[in-house]
Amino acid sequence: MQLSVSKIEALRELLATPQSIVILSHTNPDGDAVGSSLAWAEILRKMGHDVTCILPNRYPYYLDFMPNISSVVIFKNDEKGAAKEALKRADIIFCLDFHLLSRLEQLGDIIDENQHAKRVLIDHHLDPSEDFDLMLSYSEASSTCYLVALIIEQLYGIEHISRSMAENLFVGMMTDTGNFAFSSVTPDVFRMVSHLAATGISIPNIHLNVYNSFTEGRARLFGYVINRKMKIFHNGTVSHMSITEEEMRRFWFQQGDSEGFVNYPLTIKKMKMSAMFTEHSDFIRVSLRSRADIDVNLFAQRYFNGGGHKNAAGGKSFMSMEETLKHYEKCVKEYAAEGLL
Ligand code: 5GP
Ligand code: MN
Repeated sequence: MQLSVSKIEALRELLATPQSIVILSHTNPDGDAVGSSLAWAEILRKMGHDVTCILPNRYPYYLDFMPNISSVVIFKNDEKGAAKEALKRADIIFCLDFHLLSRLEQLGDIIDENQHAKRVLIDHHLDPSEDFDLMLSYSEASSTCYLVALIIEQLYGIEHISRSMAENLFVGMMTDTGNFAFSSVTPDVFRMVSHLAATGISIPNIHLNVYNSFTEGRARLFGYVINRKMKIFHNGTVSHMSITEEEMRRFWFQQGDSEGFVNYPLTIKKMKMSAMFTEHSDFIRVSLRSRADIDVNLFAQRYFNGGGHKNAAGGKSFMSMEETLKHYEKCVKEYAAEGLL
């Protein structure tokens, strides 16, 4: 994967003198969103810029160990108005790990109040919107963290990646690739991992924090969902699962607890596509995963007001849970009838 030289030079020019910078990432931030934001913030601060990282809502509790994470402003809990203040004075707004301003939800409304800031996208989702002045959009990149690592390398030199940056970058590179197992993983990803490892990060410790630091409630919820809520249909090749608000209360649900559940049905040999529906107060969050040639980005765009990547996408439903599940089953039939499943 080759970054565009002219785009790197445009970025270098934007950052040639100290700037007031805001870094934004998507709602329900994951390891890649948080890791890329924190690493990008750290290098920019090192280069003399004033940087504020803002997330629309809280990150999962098991990411609490990530270096500098306490410096992030959570827009939903931001009573002091720090997010609004930083956005007002920003010269540059970086948007990391998302491709549509709608993924900022309410935070999106206030970024329009600043019309003079340059908007720069650093992302790896398919079909980005045209809302940006400079777009470093590479859908073939396995994670935004990998992209940020490449950008740092080209702008400043790889020796500027500190241990704490490396730790943050490694989290996103690991989580967005299913532990370096997806087809998006290239030899160059491992070259970069080798540099990150050489900074002295503890890979076992990162793994422990990200994958083995959940609550008891999460383990029990997982068992319950797989045992009681997973429906398999379409000749054993498609599945869906759901979690209602009542079930979340029953299992002491904390944000991020259902992260990764949607991948589990794909451990079944014949499975081609898996869906998870999570109830929120005014919509149902849809999470989709698929094997190799099944395109869930298109499926999410067509049927659930969403998008993402070919094998991992998401969206929203504004129907009841029962109607949403029926709708999903109907869409699966239609998709299969077109030969897409
Ligand atoms: P997840 O299932 O992990 O929440 O999301 C999978 C992928 O789909 C992520 O890359 C995410 O950015 C994308 N995605 C999730 N929800 C939405 C959505 O509502 N709209 C769009 N366009 N993409 C989404
Ligand atoms: Mn990502």
